[in-house]
Amino acid sequence: MSTTLRVGGEVDAFCTKCELLLAHTILAMVGPKIIRVRCNTCMGEHAFRGQVVPKSAAKPRASRASTSAAEKAEKITIAWEERLKSTDLTKARKYSPKESFAAEEVMNHPTFGYGIVSAVRGDKIDVAFKAFEKTLLHKRPDGHAARPTFGTKPAAAPQPVDEGAAPDAASTGDAGGGTVAS
Ligand SMILES: [Zn+2]
Repeated sequence: MSTTLRVGGEVDAFCTKCELLLAHTILAMVGPKIIRVRCNTCMGEHAFRGQVVPKSAAKPRASRASTSAAEKAEKITIAWEERLKSTDLTKARKYSPKESFAAEEVMNHPTFGYGIVSAVRGDKIDVAFKAFEKTLLHKRPDGHAARPTFGTKPAAAPQPVDEGAAPDAASTGDAGGGTVAS
């Protein structure tokens, strides 16, 4: 191991007091492992528990995928809240399938709360609510589907799978059961 990490040297570590990734002075090491560090910003000493990011060779692939996914989800939520904040909520119309909505319009849904129309696709709108996005209907003067043939087939109701309720499945076609006569 020929890293630049040594006692007295510097390492980037997450400071729990500053809540930032900051330069720390290495106070104690066991072999290549850093045990204790001191934050150069707040001078607080704490155990080193973070990924080792040597100053000379910081690699972009260090962060874990799960962390970045969580951060991404959080950013989307923040962006949504920011967008809602910049909107005059008194102008948010109450959602009804009889109404017509435009993209970027803010609505007030009786069940889902405030939502931002992210896309308009004919008589459907995609609406971003705080925690999820939903496709809703609009421009429906009667309050129901204008095209009855679209997407509604009552015939193919999914059968509930009942274990052991298929008596002919065991005897047919199963060649692996050793039933071949010798
Ligand atoms: Zn600190």
